[in-house]
Amino acid sequence: MAHAILPKAPTAKNPPEQFTGDVWVDPIAYPREEGQGMIVARVRFAPGAHTAWHSHAKGQTLHVTSGIALFGTRDGAVLEVRPGETVYCPAGEEHWHGATPEDFMEHLAMLENADDPAQTTTWLEHVAEGDYHRPGGRNS
Ligand code: MN
Repeated sequence: MAHAILPKAPTAKNPPEQFTGDVWVDPIAYPREEGQGMIVARVRFAPGAHTAWHSHAKGQTLHVTSGIALFGTRDGAVLEVRPGETVYCPAGEEHWHGATPEDFMEHLAMLENADDPAQTTTWLEHVAEGDYHRPGGRNS
């Protein structure tokens, strides 16, 4: 396979079954040759938009490029992640991520395909309204 500038796929809106609010994704990297498993995407969230609960078979690295990301886990903890910061979510840990209620947020999402690519991300239920909040508090 020769080197190449890759064609830009159209920005796609993520499905409402797995996201609350408006979330757009631009794929950057995906497996192109045998044995590869790297997936990288730029993901943009409107104010208040966030994922449903989910987990990743081989973990996920999120690098915030704009806005403040909220990252929540089942123990009730919510992290604020700022531009230039990176959060790692271990394999199998159920979590959600998204924008703050007030502002847009953009992050790079990086993960490895599972051996069966269909198992890479396991989607669960939507985040309950009361569970989507900043660290240490409920939403205003
Ligand atoms: Mn995730």
